[in-house]
Amino acid sequence: MNKKREQLVNQLKVEIVKIISETNGISLSDTLELLIQSIKIKENSLVEKSLLEFNHLLTGFQIDEVDIDTLLTHPVGEALFGFFKSFPIPYNEEHIHLTGSLNAEFIYPRLKKLLEGENKAIYEKKIKDVYGEDSIPINSIDDVDNLIRLKEGEQFNKYLEILYLAKLVLVDRKSHEDASYHMAKELYTKFNVGQIRLKFTLSRSTTIETEKIPGIEDITEEDVVLGLYDGFKKFQQENNFFKFILSPSFRKENNFFDSENYETKQDHFNAQVNSLLEILDKHSFLRPYVSEVDTVGDERELYRKVHFKQMKSGLRRLQYNGFQIRSHHGETWKTLKKGVQSVDNAMNIWHIDTLEHGLSLGINPNFYYHSLMQRVLEKNQKEEKLKEGSQEYNEIQDMEWHDQNVKEKVLGGTPLSDDEIISFTKTKFHTAREVEHYQHDVLNRMINKQVSLVALPSSNLKLTGCFPDYKDHPFSWWEKKGVKLGVGTDNYITLSTNFIQEMLILLFSDPINLKITKLLMVSTKEKRRPFISHLLWEMRKEIVKGKVEP
Ligand SMILES: [Zn+2]
Repeated sequence: MNKKREQLVNQLKVEIVKIISETNGISLSDTLELLIQSIKIKENSLVEKSLLEFNHLLTGFQIDEVDIDTLLTHPVGEALFGFFKSFPIPYNEEHIHLTGSLNAEFIYPRLKKLLEGENKAIYEKKIKDVYGEDSIPINSIDDVDNLIRLKEGEQFNKYLEILYLAKLVLVDRKSHEDASYHMAKELYTKFNVGQIRLKFTLSRSTTIETEKIPGIEDITEEDVVLGLYDGFKKFQQENNFFKFILSPSFRKENNFFDSENYETKQDHFNAQVNSLLEILDKHSFLRPYVSEVDTVGDERELYRKVHFKQMKSGLRRLQYNGFQIRSHHGETWKTLKKGVQSVDNAMNIWHIDTLEHGLSLGINPNFYYHSLMQRVLEKNQKEEKLKEGSQEYNEIQDMEWHDQNVKEKVLGGTPLSDDEIISFTKTKFHTAREVEHYQHDVLNRMINKQVSLVALPSSNLKLTGCFPDYKDHPFSWWEKKGVKLGVGTDNYITLSTNFIQEMLILLFSDPINLKITKLLMVSTKEKRRPFISHLLWEMRKEIVKGKVEP
């Protein structure tokens, strides 16, 4: 960063800390407005210009004229980043996965050893299978970095695949220890995160060919848990504020299990539950840190009651052993209705305590279905058939059609007449109404049962493509409805984001209603509002002092 820009960002940060502490963390729009009006700012034309420009861009963002990166990389965006980074108490990262949150600096030296070792050919082939022919040779940190980040336009399937490189180096207890220590240190020093809920795979064995990892035959579930525990404990000894939760995660796809050794998914899952409980019996010091589980993976085939059967008894056993159940649901779906249904059944059958993602409960059905209809009509006019299995195809198939003839024409690419378009619109309208009704019903039950929800804006936008832009993320709407919320990054390296960036995205997405104090409270899990005010004031003292010193 050039010196002048750095100076500007610093000046902005000082002013931002002052105004936020003096106004007790009101909304971003109001904060900027008051800042721009102040006499002191008017005296400094560079700072004033920057604030005016940012304010303008922020408005542009709300009407799709400006993208999020423009805001994040603007000097005011950077100053706000600095503000959040300096906040006196650290943040609570509620949802982070091990494999997508290890950076290239961690992976490269370990991978290099493997690629220079005796199994070089096996590793190269595996890597090519997942990342393509061009992925080899890997000669630098940058080469690794390039492979482990999701590219523009790549979505969910690719996302699960590219976590592979990190999995290759997590082969024993020591590497798990190094990994959790490295993660804790990175997150704290770079993003002021001091509490981590880490999701990780307990059982590394699989019969899915592309998921198989050479060299991990010997690693036990115990090694994984103890390794991660040791790494976090080590960081905690150096930083006593640090807190962590180890949350073993289980793939929930009904076809994802070790079919060589188990008859059914249920048998395999029960065995994993046994093994987890045995580990805790053997090492009871782990209990306070391992007291919840999560289910992850592709949920598109997991929405009906029967789909939830395989894991039901295992989860119940865990509950009776004091575990809380968290679940990735409503993240992806075949149709929006099924996306709501999957959350509904996860609540009813698995009795989940926390919903991870839950995006199907935040999409506005009227917008979603209308925009879907627009895309379909555009194709229809061009006489394009709908591709089997595509989102449009699935939604059209699932609607209750008033006129079957119209449905066939839409699927087959026969242009609709004006009357038929009206018929399509009516079908779409009633579908949206019905799903909206269902969605509110499930959301209200969730609020009633105090099931909490973790919001992951970047992950949601990049992976689902189901809502148009960051500004449409439902966080603020959920907040107003009274949903118990948390914030997470999912796989921050894969998704090229970080905890503070996620906070900024939430703030920029609702600059009018979301209060800075509220965001700080949700992100730190500090419930005492006056204490937050006090901390803001402390921050002000520090920064004003810092400004006087050279
Ligand atoms: Zn996740």
